[in-house]
Amino acid sequence: MEYNVRISGVEPESIVDGPGFRYTVFTQGCPHGCPGCHNPQTHPFDGGRTADIRKIFEEICGNPLLKGVTLSGGEPFCQPAPLAELARMVHEKGLDVVTFTGYLYENLLAKHDPGVDALLAQTDLLIDGPFVLAEKDLTLRFRGSRNQRVIDMNATRNSGSVVLADY
Ligand code: SF4
Repeated sequence: MEYNVRISGVEPESIVDGPGFRYTVFTQGCPHGCPGCHNPQTHPFDGGRTADIRKIFEEICGNPLLKGVTLSGGEPFCQPAPLAELARMVHEKGLDVVTFTGYLYENLLAKHDPGVDALLAQTDLLIDGPFVLAEKDLTLRFRGSRNQRVIDMNATRNSGSVVLADY
């Protein structure tokens, strides 16, 4: 089991990275290079620091007010296995999981990568697609540009086609 994840940092109490009060993990390393990205410090794969997901989980367990955990970027799907394990622990505790990605959901499925599939399986809301400056919209909830989708992964798994969440 891979417990180490490279992160740029955490936000232990966020209200902007998904519904309710959340613990956000900002992963380190992103290949997308979206022009206008707000987190360019998260792009280098050798930046940030290594963290143990068990320590992160301990911190999450210390806050009874949390509704869930958000995995943000960087690009979480560049190190999906330890994040899937963290998400599994988070679900076991009864909290929900929001995952951001610059990939399209369909492209993640097409990778047929066990780690990617495991992280998708442990995600309740997936916010997908690159940030597109020309489609930037400050009125959107949880996303920066209109091309990005908030996918209800539980409904999507049940129906077999993409179901958007009502945000
Ligand atoms: S996917 Fe996210 S972190 Fe990566 S370049 Fe695009 S906006 Fe920035």
